[in-house]
Formats: sequence, C-alpha cells, structure tokens
Amino acid sequence: MLEPAYQADVVIVGAGVAGLAAAHRLTSAGVTTVVLEAAPYVGGRMATEKVDGFRLDRVGQLLSTSYPELRLTPGLDALVLRPFAPGVLVHSDGRRHRAGAPLSGGGARGALGAVRALASAPRSARSPRPTASAGARTGAPLAGAVGGAVGGAVDQARLGAALNRLAAVPVQRLLARPELPAAQALANRGLPARTIEGFLRPLLAALLCDPELTTSSRCADLALRAFAGGRLCVPEGGAETLPELLARALPPGTVHTGVRVTSVSTNLVTTADHGELRCRAVLVATDARAAAELLPGLRVPDFHPVTVVHHTADEAPESGAFLLLDADRRGPVAHTAVISHVDPTRSPAGRPLISSTVLGTPPEDVDQAVRAHLSRLYGTSTTRWETLAVHHTAEAVPAMRPPHDLRRPVRLLAGLYVCGDHRDTSTVQGALHSGHRAASALLTDLGAEPVRVQEPLAA
Ligand SMILES: Cc1cc2nc3c(=O)[nH]c(=O)nc-3n(C[C@H](O)[C@H](O)[C@H](O)COP(=O)(O)OP(=O)(O)OC[C@H]3O[C@@H](n4cnc5c(N)ncnc54)[C@H](O)[C@@H]3O)c2cc1C
Repeated sequence: MLEPAYQADVVIVGAGVAGLAAAHRLTSAGVTTVVLEAAPYVGGRMATEKVDGFRLDRVGQLLSTSYPELRLTPGLDALVLRPFAPGVLVHSDGRRHRAGAPLSGGGARGALGAVRALASAPRSARSPRPTASAGARTGAPLAGAVGGAVGGAVDQARLGAALNRLAAVPVQRLLARPELPAAQALANRGLPARTIEGFLRPLLAALLCDPELTTSSRCADLALRAFAGGRLCVPEGGAETLPELLARALPPGTVHTGVRVTSVSTNLVTTADHGELRCRAVLVATDARAAAELLPGLRVPDFHPVTVVHHTADEAPESGAFLLLDADRRGPVAHTAVISHVDPTRSPAGRPLISSTVLGTPPEDVDQAVRAHLSRLYGTSTTRWETLAVHHTAEAVPAMRPPHDLRRPVRLLAGLYVCGDHRDTSTVQGALHSGHRAASALLTDLGAEPVRVQEPLAA
C-alpha cells in the first residue's frame, strides 16, 4: 500500500478523533499528511457496533452541545447532535425525580436556554427536532417529581441558581480555584447533603466516568459548567459518526487503516508490516498507553474502566428522552437511557434501545446484575428484555486526579508531537482540543500559518 519512497510532511499515528482533527487542520493549511491507524477502522474508542439494525456504541457517550470543539473542528459541519431532555432524572429511594433543569426564566445559559440557543446554533450543534424528541416524551414519568432527591422547592431553586451562575463563570476563574478531589470539594461547597448525594454526585460520576469522584475538582467544575451551559447529547447515528465525518472530509488517501506503527522519530516512522515512512514531523495521536510505548518517558495514567450494556424490549420503559441517574448506588448501573428516544436512528422501527453504563470494575455476572438494577430503576420487569451487547473497556478514560494539568505539552521537540485525550481532559472535547493544539504547534514549526487555538476550553 505504501511505497517505501513515500514522503509526507507529517505522519500522524492513530485515527481517533484527536488524530483526525489534527489531520484536518494540517491538510487545510496545505501540509501533506498521512494518518496511520492500526485497527481496520477509524475512530478508536468512538466505535459503534451494528447488530440486527441496532447501532450500539462501545462508549457510554455523553457529549454536551456546549463543547466548543464540536463547533470549531473543521469537518464536523454535518454532525447532528441529539439532545437528551433538559436536566436529568434521578432515581433515589425508589422514586424518580427530575433535577438540574433550569429555573423557569433561568436565563439564556441554562438548559432551557440551551434549547433556544440550539435553534440559533450552527448546523453542527443542532438536532433536526431538538425539542420534539425531548419534550414530547417527558410528561408521564415526571408527574409529582418535584422535590425528592434534590430536596424541596427551595433546594431545587438554589441548585438551579447555582447551575446558572456556574454556566456564566469564566473558565479561567474556575481553573484558579483550589484543586481537590471532586468528592472533597463538593462537601465544601455549602450545598445541602441531599443536593450533593441526590444530584451532583451521580451526575458528576456519569460525566467523569468516575464513581468515587477522585477526579480533580477543576475538571469536575468544567464538566458541571458544560452541563449547565448546554444540553447533554449524543451524536446521531452513534459515536462512530463523529470520526467517520472527520475521515470522510480528508483528502482521499490520507488515512491508512490496518497499519501498526512500531517506532517513531522526528523524521521516520516504522510500521509492523508496511515498511518505513520518511517525513518532516511525526504526531503520535494514540491512547495514553500506546503513546508511552512509542515515546518512552511519557507518563501512563491510571484509567477508569467502563462497561456499556445494550438491551431491547417489547415496549420502551417509561423515562422519556431523559438520562436516568442512579443516586442510591444499590446496583451496578450508574446511568441509563432509552437511547432510541433520544436518537431514533439507533434502532429499527418499534424496537427500543436501552443503553446502560456501569462504572468501575463490573460484577461477575454483569448482565444479570444490570437487569435486576434496571428493573428497579425503570419500575418494570426486565426478564424478557433481550441483551444485544455487553462492551467492557478496561482502559476507557484516563483518570484526572489532582493535580491535573489540563494543558499537557503537545510539542515534545521540533518534529515530534503528541495529542489525545490524555493531554487535555479525558473527553471527546479534550481529544479534539489536543489535536487542535498539536496542529497549531506543528504549523508554527513548519513555518505554515498557525491555527489559532480558541479559548475558553470546556470540559
Ligand atoms: C466506555 C467509554 C465511555 C466514554 N464516555 C465518554 C463520555 O461520556 N463523554 C466523553 O466526552 N468521552 C467519553 N469517553 C472518552 C472518549 O471516547 C475519548 O476521550 C476519545 O474518544 C479519545 O480519542 P483519542 O483520539 O484521544 O484516542 P483513541 O480514540 O483511543 O484513538 C487512538 C487511536 O490510535 C490507534 N493506535 C494505537 N496504537 C497505534 C499504533 N501503534 N499504530 C497505529 N495506530 C495506533 C488506536 O487504534 C486508536 O484508533 C469514553 C470512552 C470510553 C471507552
């Protein structure tokens, strides 16, 4: 496939979203770029399995419409984001309660504000029917759901006001706050314990894939800020849509799959079965562990394991298009949703898709334990539900314990660069932003017009 004499300005190792985003910015600036991907497909961790007409994500993907890089990354113009209903449902003490939705008239920044913002947002951040899919199905499960998990009306109002304030805080001010493990920082915020345990803890665990909240409080604040300033959402068609859009918009022949890189230097890349490539610079855009193998000395972080279980049923359980969080922690499921209500393209007509996420080490018989827990969360029998897939990823998300550097260097030396979620925040936003920064550094070193890295960053 690759002639030994093949030359490129830049070779990128890894076709996850970080590498593909960087490739876009480089090729747009006229830099010849080759992306080498070990797997037979692009996308890395953002993979979607197709089973009987269902589109099943390996990742329990929760994006936010407020992630700036989803708007800024060239190639994502056609991305459609499907929003969850505003706020979340929390299951606590055997009941489901709605929480985290904005106060009425809560300003343009709150989640309702985000619906309005969505209508005027660029095409990339818009769902074709942002309110219809969310609103039409929200009624039944919410009847009598005021108060409860988060507390009474006053506590709800305080929480809503706090979220609205958080959405307006400049990122730099959040990053100047003292850094603690998120669980410890939450306890110091002066909020009632029921607001913390009944809403903030399960929400942050879901957003950070970290059940014990050992993550840096700064990353937790960024995640909450993104929640407060936008809407939780998923990419229409499954997680793989995002990298596929990026790959498709690159010049033909840029991406080569099935090519495993075994070593890199500033001007040479060696592959397992496809010889060597000479180039002017190399960007390693792999996951953290593979990056440390190619670039000895790079730190390998701890990881949070994540398991995603997909079910279908004869009838969709009642929870609308909400993300349903578990606050009781009496079962393995951290969050679950009838994802076909949020994104109907993920399942065949009339077949609901219920996707549930287990954080941490899963129990031995994960499917049985998940079914039993889902039965309590949805208040319905799950014995007749069909299991479509159980996806376990041991090294799903790099841990971001304090002190966490949100801007790990992407330029190691002239000619050698690294990007990926382990350089920023362990999110799609972080991965895309690291690709943005790496491309910018590369273009500066190559003497091309640098791409301006947009601030502020989001979680
Ligand atoms: C289960 C799970 C749940 C998640 N939940 C969320 C969430 O809710 N919200 C959120 O924002 N993020 C979430 N994430 C994280 C998000 O998916 C990642 O941050 C993002 O996809 C990382 O992209 P990347 O490009 O940095 O790395 P990757 O996607 O890992 O891409 C790296 C690529 O490099 C390739 N590669 C590795 N070694 C070599 C080699 N030697 N030669 C050639 N190619 C190589 C790999 O095959 C891979 O394709 C989740 C991830 C998982 C797994």
